[in-house]
Amino acid sequence: MSTRSLESLPAAALEGQRALVRVDFNVPLKNGTVTDDTRIRAAVPTIRYLRERGARVVLLSHLGRPKGGPDPKYSLRQILRDVERVLGITLEFIEDLDAGVAVTRRLPRGGIALVENTRFWPGEETNDPALARQFAALGDFYVNDAFGSAHRAHASTEGVAHLLKPAVAGFLMERELRYLGAALEQPRRPFVAVLGGAKISGKIEVIEALLPKCDAILIGGAMACTFFASLGLEVGASLVERDRTALAKALLTKGGMKLVLPRGATVAPSLERAAERRQVMSDAIPADMAVFDIDQATADDFRARIIGAKTVIWNGPMGVFETPPFDAGTRAVANALVEATAKGATTVVGGGDSAAAVAGLEDKLTHVSTGGGASLEFLEGKPLPGVTALDQV
Ligand code: ADP
Ligand code: MG
Repeated sequence: MSTRSLESLPAAALEGQRALVRVDFNVPLKNGTVTDDTRIRAAVPTIRYLRERGARVVLLSHLGRPKGGPDPKYSLRQILRDVERVLGITLEFIEDLDAGVAVTRRLPRGGIALVENTRFWPGEETNDPALARQFAALGDFYVNDAFGSAHRAHASTEGVAHLLKPAVAGFLMERELRYLGAALEQPRRPFVAVLGGAKISGKIEVIEALLPKCDAILIGGAMACTFFASLGLEVGASLVERDRTALAKALLTKGGMKLVLPRGATVAPSLERAAERRQVMSDAIPADMAVFDIDQATADDFRARIIGAKTVIWNGPMGVFETPPFDAGTRAVANALVEATAKGATTVVGGGDSAAAVAGLEDKLTHVSTGGGASLEFLEGKPLPGVTALDQV
């Protein structure tokens, strides 16, 4: 079974029909101005495909986390001009869902309407069927291109997909499912996962789901310190989740040789005192210092394992990459993924901070997932409600 794609719809299903498209226009704003339009540009292939085939396009998206109803701070009106600029066409704007039905019917072929922030309606996050019906009335078929929201069963992502058929995956969504899905389901081996980031707590399920599938899981980031602590090692002032050490120990037992901990670390008294940083073995972390990165020996070890792999999944930076020089380990891993890709490996990066860490390298990697939370849940092996509600063929 796979999720039905937009491309599978025959021409007659598009021509003159109203496509209700869930996009992810949850863009960063500063004083009402879009500071990064990547997410808007990412939706262009799906929107263009629909317009070129004579469909009328109605766009749905959330923006931020408005609490309890309409709030100008979160209005999609603020991004209307940017969407128009990116798409090169003037848009209709729909604030009132009932009145909006007539607006969608009046759209010319290739015309586009943008609906106000889906979270302005209280039924969105509770997946209220009445709201889903109102959304469904705005289109003749449904396209979900918002992978980053697919792990949430909301009215605009899940409820509406049951009511408006066909319900298919847009190009962005399809790409995410293809690369993440293929990496997990039919990985070419060796299959290596690299996991890092701040906390082990958010990644336990990922480790558990990947252990039986992977040939090795390389651990970095502060997460490694919780594993060190579980082995009784000194971790100094490092970020450690003391309440997770028993769990970390159980994972080490379960993972055996597959779980690869860093041989050493780059430590410093504080982030500010980077000049006093040192590289130490993992069993020699000074009590008055904290781990802020993997050390060079570990970076070399991880690189060798990564470039020897045929499939690599990476989530979570190896250190405090936002604060150089503690970005060295993360950079080394990013470069190793680029090397592996050039040698023919499939490389997939997921997670918000991880995606930021590989900014500029996207073209040299197989796939950088745009869906932070959604890609993690996918890696955990959980079904994504916004995906399972789409037609399966
Ligand atoms: P992602 O968003 O890719 O899923 P996470 O949110 O799990 O990644 O982790 C990213 C954060 O982890 C970054 O802010 C980074 O600074 C932090 N981090 C990584 N290593 C360390 C460390 N040794 N000490 C403190 N924070 C760390
Ligand atoms: Mg993060």
